[in-house]
Amino acid sequence: MSKLQSRPFRFIPAHYKVVGETSTADENSEMSLSSEKTNRSRSASSSIAESSSSSLIHSNTAPKVIDDRESSIFLVEFIDNSRRIYTAHKLKCGVTIQVGEHVLEECPSVLEDLNYDLMECLLVLPASVRSLVRRTKIWLNRNYSYGPVNNPKTVRHTTAHHFAGWLLCVRDNPEKTESIEIYDAAEYQKTRAHYNGGGLMLHELCHIIHQKVLPAGLNNPMVIEIYRVASESTKYTTVLRRDWALKDVEYDMAYCIVNYKEFFAEISVTYLADFYHEVDGAGSQDMAKCSPPFVSLAVIERIQNALSQNAKSGNINARGNSKYQIIEDTNRVLPHCNKFFPFTKGQLRLYDPRVYKCFEKLWDLIENWEDKDKRRCESCVWF
Ligand SMILES: [Zn+2]
Repeated sequence: MSKLQSRPFRFIPAHYKVVGETSTADENSEMSLSSEKTNRSRSASSSIAESSSSSLIHSNTAPKVIDDRESSIFLVEFIDNSRRIYTAHKLKCGVTIQVGEHVLEECPSVLEDLNYDLMECLLVLPASVRSLVRRTKIWLNRNYSYGPVNNPKTVRHTTAHHFAGWLLCVRDNPEKTESIEIYDAAEYQKTRAHYNGGGLMLHELCHIIHQKVLPAGLNNPMVIEIYRVASESTKYTTVLRRDWALKDVEYDMAYCIVNYKEFFAEISVTYLADFYHEVDGAGSQDMAKCSPPFVSLAVIERIQNALSQNAKSGNINARGNSKYQIIEDTNRVLPHCNKFFPFTKGQLRLYDPRVYKCFEKLWDLIENWEDKDKRRCESCVWF
């Protein structure tokens, strides 16, 4: 944060924003500090959204002139993500990846992983949405921060951008609207392993399908109602999560219960995981029995450590015995499952029949959707 001397009329560069305006330097300091404290205690999205509505409305183009003869002000320089450089790479599956700087040097296998994941998505999704998937761009970064230059917020997750508002708030390119963004390619490669491959990308594509395909889009009443029913039950309050396998606590609140949009995306990943039928009737309590095989290196390491400790102590009944299924062959492509229980379609049918029936109807609607923007992809004749 920088403080300019008070003087009549000055130009404010477009990537600066006024965050406080009072008559003395001390008051200014107090205001900016308290503003930062408040923002830190709020969610990332609300802090940025609120700061965008402070006393000077920013512009991406022309510099601003303000009259501050009677006052001194603080300016905060914000990271300008709209200047990021991307290069388009079309994958064999027909999806275009906008590859950011340094991604391929530091994550050389990420495009291969994305091609595997998207091929699986295209195979499990109905034919009606395959053209939509192929024209949904994926923006791939090595790392990503936003907010004030001297106090940035770094994000590592993968997300779907529904609207331009958030992108403008984080000084990013509104062309990313209705597309998917991977903020950290290395993190994506680690996280996808908890879904045995394509489930993470499928989750994001289901957000786009929710918006573009279902009647009333993100306000689809059937999704909102089944989310209400599910959140009033206790079924999703505490469930097994595969990335926590063999940690002291293997349970967490299901991510689907965060809001109705996540509910649609998460339960769709499970509904479309018509695999691993051997775990269908294995219950919901014992990770070793009801989880599909693990491929995450971090989880495999925990399992192997527990096995060797058990072998040393002779305690063959302890957690970490050979019941945990692992697959160490990194070249093997597996069908996806979910990270949170229920992991598969068969488990969802037994665990929550009401939600299962609703998702049958939702995916029937999606299967019968008429895509008015359908385009033929010459390089993708296999589907
Ligand atoms: Zn999501």
